[in-house]
Amino acid sequence: MDPITALLDDLLDEIRPMDDGAPAAYIPELAAADPDRLAFAVVGPRGRVRVVGDGEHEFTIQSISKPFVLALALEECGRERVLECVGVEPSGEPFNAISLAHDTGRPANPMVNAGAIATTALVGEPESDIDERTARIVSKLSAFAGRSLWVDEAVYASESATGDRNRALGHLLRSYGVMTGSVEAAVETYFRQCSLLVTVRDLAVMAGTLAFGGVNPVTGVRVVSTRVARDVLSIMSSCGMYDYSGEWLLRVGLPAKSGVSGGLLAVAPSQFGVAAFSPRLDAHGNSVRAIAAVETVSDRFDMHLLESH
Ligand code: GLU
Repeated sequence: MDPITALLDDLLDEIRPMDDGAPAAYIPELAAADPDRLAFAVVGPRGRVRVVGDGEHEFTIQSISKPFVLALALEECGRERVLECVGVEPSGEPFNAISLAHDTGRPANPMVNAGAIATTALVGEPESDIDERTARIVSKLSAFAGRSLWVDEAVYASESATGDRNRALGHLLRSYGVMTGSVEAAVETYFRQCSLLVTVRDLAVMAGTLAFGGVNPVTGVRVVSTRVARDVLSIMSSCGMYDYSGEWLLRVGLPAKSGVSGGLLAVAPSQFGVAAFSPRLDAHGNSVRAIAAVETVSDRFDMHLLESH
């Protein structure tokens, strides 16, 4: 084991005993997650990926899809069109809040569900069906990860079966004219993007692609422009950790995004992409041990972006 991998392995041993929190319980597939799984990965500028813990374990990406679908919408429609449909202000509210501006119906930001559904609705042609929209999203997220990603059909079926709140958000968006196409196409596509299977390695490479200005550090492929990567990181900095985003920025100082299956990725621009996975969640819906892992790494390696050096 090389020295950095050994160091990361020690880090996991330090946080492994933390047993606060519990897996998300709103669908059976997430409730059944093994709460003891733990993994961490990091990718540097030359594309070397180091993975420790349960690195091969696949889980659904859930809300971590949101910044990458935002990147696709920014690329396809441009920043001004995206900003017509979704704001960029932290909501300070939970991910599934009915967080729409009273006058325009514009969601607070693309990292809460309402904003993510509005963002997903921007992908593809207005008449695109669920399969066409999903294919564009899967292809882009696969380019971010550097391998082909697949939808977990059982999780998708459960998300769709229990997704009335998200469906309601879709209808509200349409009632305001924020979304003009089919609510069903947007919401079902959103459920499919949340159900993509990833490993902690995939998340680290996806984070790395944002860290290195839109170029995947492993494949060398440009996935989005430097400007799009910068825009996405800016929004992740203020809105990426649900209603813990402000405290996260204070303590860790890195743009990040978490999801309810227990994944978390964070970006140190031009330096690293990192990701952690552990299904036990705190009251905000963030993974307790993934937060601990990334916070410890940020501290030990002086990665807080607002620290002067
Ligand atoms: N599929 C979940 C939902 O939309 C994603 C939630 C999350 O990861 O925050 O409710």
